[in-house]
Amino acid sequence: MKIVEVRVEESLLPKQDKDWKFALAASGMSEGWVVSIRAQDGTTGYGYASSMAHYGAPHETVKGALDRLIKRLEGRDSRDIANIMADLDRAMVGNNQAKAGIDCALHDLMARRLNIPICDLFGGPAVREFATLRILPIKSPSDMAKNARMLHNKGVRHFKIKIHGEIDEDVARVAAVRKELGADAHLTVDANQSYAPKDAIIALNRMAQYKIDLAEQPVKASDLVGLKAVTAAVPITIEADEAAYSLDQVMILVRDRIVDAISLKIAKLGGLRKTYAAAMICEAGGVRYRMGAHSGPQLLAAHGLQLAAALPGIWYASELTEFDGLAEDRWEGLKLVDGVLHHTDAIGCGVTPKAARTKG
Ligand SMILES: [Mg+2]
Repeated sequence: MKIVEVRVEESLLPKQDKDWKFALAASGMSEGWVVSIRAQDGTTGYGYASSMAHYGAPHETVKGALDRLIKRLEGRDSRDIANIMADLDRAMVGNNQAKAGIDCALHDLMARRLNIPICDLFGGPAVREFATLRILPIKSPSDMAKNARMLHNKGVRHFKIKIHGEIDEDVARVAAVRKELGADAHLTVDANQSYAPKDAIIALNRMAQYKIDLAEQPVKASDLVGLKAVTAAVPITIEADEAAYSLDQVMILVRDRIVDAISLKIAKLGGLRKTYAAAMICEAGGVRYRMGAHSGPQLLAAHGLQLAAALPGIWYASELTEFDGLAEDRWEGLKLVDGVLHHTDAIGCGVTPKAARTKG
């Protein structure tokens, strides 16, 4: 079925927390682009292209890449996803965030035309319920503990404490959150590259007494030797995030056993197909994997959920509910109950634009 129209629309959604901050940036706004692809029969598929400046994909760059890439889509067979995505890779190196928006929209279109959830294209729903992990942005230890309590009251049991490379302050953040939540909560930390390797080893060994399940990207993304040294020196599972910025980089991390785990994100890996491939590489190499932060509207989380449902090997709570921290969303359909996200058998990616309901 021929592609007759491709559109790119800006998506700027305010967060509830205007002072949202992590080690690399502060942002009260969730930025990205919605890609919609319409086939000749009128069916439309939707994908979300995340703007991620800390991965070299600022907002305007993602739009520029999309404008160029979508020109190659019109008139093509919408089912020809593998060839289309290979063609986009030949036409432009990198720009995975833009390509992910297109890949997701093509899969959504195919699934809607077949009247099935996207998950079925990847083997069907092996998992239907997901305990989710929520981010605690950088604040004072007491404010982070307060935020953790509010999320706990909503049913969240897994938390990611953002830290920023100051050993004493960061250990105090972890101690405050553990004290507030007690022994049962599952805690992780994410330094977003802010530590030198030796400082990371000191900090994580001190944090280990508070039972940390996972530490994300302690050192610079480019410092694989330092990352491997941290992995070897601490009792906490070390996860690559920014260092796992493409499928070939995932291959290197697994091949050289740089980390214990890898954070998979549709946006940084360039879409559903490549994220699925990354998961299989991890499985083959005995490295843990899960879906990392899919920060954006329900549309992005929905695609993440469709793929996660087809991956029974995911070892830990995924991050598919950051949309719950937005002040507004233009998408609806996800079922989040008491901190648990449910895979339903809704068609396509499982969400629809709210405007469609109002009109219809
Ligand atoms: Mg991270």
